[in-house]
Amino acid sequence: MKVLVLGAGQLARMMSLAGAPLGIEVSAYDVVSEDIVHPLTKTALGHGLGNAIASAQIITAEFEHIPHAILDQCEASGKLHPSAQAIKTGGDRRIEKSLLDKAGVANATYEVVNNREDFDRAVAKVGLPMVLKSAKDGYDGKGQWRLKSEDQKEPVWQEIAAFLAAAKGDQSIVAEAFVPFDYEVSLIGVRNMSGELEVYPLTENTHVDGVLNVSVAGNQPMELQAQAKAMFRAVAEALDYVGVLAIEFFVVGEKLLVNEIAPRVHNSGHWSQQGAETCQFENHLRAVTGMPLGRTTLLRPTAMVNILGEDTLPEAVYTMGHVHWYGKEKRTGRKMGHINLCANTLIGLGQVLDAVAPLAPAHAREAVAASARKLAG
Ligand code: ATP
Ligand code: MG
Repeated sequence: MKVLVLGAGQLARMMSLAGAPLGIEVSAYDVVSEDIVHPLTKTALGHGLGNAIASAQIITAEFEHIPHAILDQCEASGKLHPSAQAIKTGGDRRIEKSLLDKAGVANATYEVVNNREDFDRAVAKVGLPMVLKSAKDGYDGKGQWRLKSEDQKEPVWQEIAAFLAAAKGDQSIVAEAFVPFDYEVSLIGVRNMSGELEVYPLTENTHVDGVLNVSVAGNQPMELQAQAKAMFRAVAEALDYVGVLAIEFFVVGEKLLVNEIAPRVHNSGHWSQQGAETCQFENHLRAVTGMPLGRTTLLRPTAMVNILGEDTLPEAVYTMGHVHWYGKEKRTGRKMGHINLCANTLIGLGQVLDAVAPLAPAHAREAVAASARKLAG
């Protein structure tokens, strides 16, 4: 079975690794260079979308910011899973927000902003503080503005007006209420063509400067897990979704609010490579190729620490956990790899994180130490 992934980054790479034992051959299509490459070696395998589509039985995606013309051409081949509509939903906050409303899942109040009039209406309706996000092309906290007080209205509007004026193509701002959350979690789940659905345990996520740094799986209460699963089912069924889908939530007291969805395997699910019976990459391939799903059961409490902008780690880290490098050239802030850390108990995982904290990449040290303290109780 041959699967083509739109996008040639680390997610395609990890799908390739997970597909090998199942006899699934993964190739990757770089939507910018239009090259078809091997996801591990980056060896050129061909060129052009037509050839890419013809070379595989199934097509999927590792990111949602893909030109609609490419998605439509892939969909026309009948090979694309999840659907073009599902991928477009994840790539445009306007479509995403109306989907969430349609599916009846709680999310932050919002207004779409295209001009000054909309902006003033959003401030009046949504209230301050407010988070303004570009409708398209945002990731890792990029394309976002915070509006905290009345006196910031003018300068923030000036920035947004400049952003909208410079934007190529169809762009808007989604203005949403700032959510005073206690912490953030995400749910990774998978649905196949026959509607079979499985979810992983909720993962607690710590972001630093808008970028995920640490995820911990296996520490969340059953009530939140049940709420998250019901919301996941509503969203996945509304999209007739096939593949792995990630939903990011804000935890406010005992309630979940959806922040955003990602129609793909997700950074906050990397822990599943060591911590779950079947990892998210394998389950995505199972779903899109029409195989039965693998079990998503937690094997043991597991944490993931991202490695940003560095290509080495102290040797001791290798004795404590599993290191996954993405084979990328070092650049400041770039996602270079991750570390998965496991223990038999949550207390034990806290001890492992405490030992790893001083050895972790500098950007993540504080977040790792904070996760360790939280697990210690
Ligand atoms: P990702 O890399 O996850 O795709 P992103 O750039 O698409 O990130 P969001 O997930 O929407 O952006 O926002 C990044 C972070 O900013 C969130 O994880 C959260 O910490 C904070 N944030 C976003 N929206 C709000 C909100 N309405 N209220 C409070 N904090 C928010
Ligand atoms: Mg996010």
